[in-house]
Amino acid sequence: MDDGSYDLAIIGGGPAGSSAAVYAGRAGLRTVVLEKQISGGQMMVSPLIENWPGDKGISGEALSARMKQHAELYAPLKEFTEVEGIERDGGLFHLRTSEGDIRSKAIIIATGATHRKLGVPGEEELSGKGVSFCATCDGFFFKGRDVIVVGGGNTALLYAIYLNNIGCHVKLVHRRDAFRAEKALQDQVAKFGIETVLSSVVERFLGEDSLDKAVIKDLRTGLSKELPVAGAFIAVGEEPNNGVAKMLGVELDHEGYVNVERDMRTNVPGVFAAGDITGGLKQIVVAAGEGAVAATSAFESLMSPYWLTRG
Ligand code: NAP
Repeated sequence: MDDGSYDLAIIGGGPAGSSAAVYAGRAGLRTVVLEKQISGGQMMVSPLIENWPGDKGISGEALSARMKQHAELYAPLKEFTEVEGIERDGGLFHLRTSEGDIRSKAIIIATGATHRKLGVPGEEELSGKGVSFCATCDGFFFKGRDVIVVGGGNTALLYAIYLNNIGCHVKLVHRRDAFRAEKALQDQVAKFGIETVLSSVVERFLGEDSLDKAVIKDLRTGLSKELPVAGAFIAVGEEPNNGVAKMLGVELDHEGYVNVERDMRTNVPGVFAAGDITGGLKQIVVAAGEGAVAATSAFESLMSPYWLTRG
């Protein structure tokens, strides 16, 4: 019977949350997964995933469905359930959610991060159809084709180098006349002869079923031109989804990601974090691994003498 009382509440139903649910359920913890939208997280928008071990190629949607089915063997998944507030009463967390109250002894924050968007016409419509936010996920599909990378930070330059190395014809589009990326990356971009389009912004993306062109405006001249491209990789930063972490008073780094120990514990007792919300390499396999570690640490923490004496 679901009386809203759990050992562990996992907040976020992406790969980190699903993996944590499997490990926690198998360890015997009464576990619930709360997801404010539908489960899957950012992998839902990936048309094809080729770097998840054991699957040579699988759509993000299909992998999400498989993870969801697997996790639900061990823990109920409550989709469209947003955490609106959390209070701590002794050793128990009281979570106010859009679908009612939940109590848990421990929490895993697996709320992920969101790619910052340009907010230009066509970006949303052509997302997954040529517009991508992840070169390591989707770059392979554009081998030998014309692509742009948008941004001037480390990620954008790494994307440009990665795409160039796998045989894409890359133009790096940046809004200013100087990159903020570290010099070593700038040197590599120059060494590989990657074309840069500076002081320029994307005004819109054009295409019916897939991306055909990007309209680029030169901010110095004010002139716009259409650039034929099959792919556009947007790397203008990411925003950690740290609302829940802030509610819990968890320590964040200077970019807003949750600081964790190797065992995924945060500075707040009983609170763990896993996946993209912890920063670092944002990949499904990493998130799943961190979810496993966080659940195991939560189990060990709940089995410690402190908890056992609470009955
Ligand atoms: P970032 O450093 O915040 O850079 C974002 C870039 O996007 C900036 O060049 C910015 O332009 C541009 N930008 C932002 N909003 C834009 C908009 N609306 N339109 C056009 N351009 C826009 O983000 P990041 O590259 O993803 O890196 C995030 C963090 O991870 C950084 O601290 C970075 O150092 C770190 N990182 C490290 C490595 C590594 O190997 N060490 C690799 C990747 C990331 P402006 O420059 O004009 O502001």
